[in-house]
Amino acid sequence: ALTPDQLKALVRTVPDWPARGVQFRDITTLIADGDGLAATIAYLADRVDAADAQMVAGMEARGFIFGAAVAARLGLGFLPIRKPGKLPIETLGIDYALEYGADRLEIDPGAVTDGMRIALVDDLIATGGTACASAALLRKAGAMVETAHFVIDLPDLGGADRLRRDDIAVDALMA
Ligand code: 5GP
Repeated sequence: ALTPDQLKALVRTVPDWPARGVQFRDITTLIADGDGLAATIAYLADRVDAADAQMVAGMEARGFIFGAAVAARLGLGFLPIRKPGKLPIETLGIDYALEYGADRLEIDPGAVTDGMRIALVDDLIATGGTACASAALLRKAGAMVETAHFVIDLPDLGGADRLRRDDIAVDALMA
């Protein structure tokens, strides 16, 4: 299997996207590689399995790619955390602040049973805004959120520390 360093070499860094000064980590090149995708899912699944999760939740849109594959590998259900207005049922939602403006995430509250342990999976954690809001939303629905698993952590942006302050253990394959 590929090592985390070899996986890192498959991630493309795109300068000045979506804004000047941002170094965007593009996972398109990682998931286009069959061995890269398989090894990434295997690493994440080991960690979710060790956390003894009962369900996996992933954030739209790249969290769906990794989260659903991890869930299927472990025989767990997958819960999509969606952008507003996408789910065809009455949702449970959370509004959260962005650096410029605000956003909202929604879930199907019927997918969560009380006290269920749900592991968060996403491609990348930066400021932690998305992951913290996701954890708060799942907790509002009655879930226990104790772990979050990422392909990439940008530690300088403090997101992992922010999650840990919310009592969530964080791991990532690469920085
Ligand atoms: P945060 O909320 O932690 O600031 O940002 C993380 C969210 O934005 C994740 O859902 C992630 O998909 C997306 N994101 C932010 N920056 C990047 C990046 O450089 N590369 C990728 N692939 N996603 C990013």
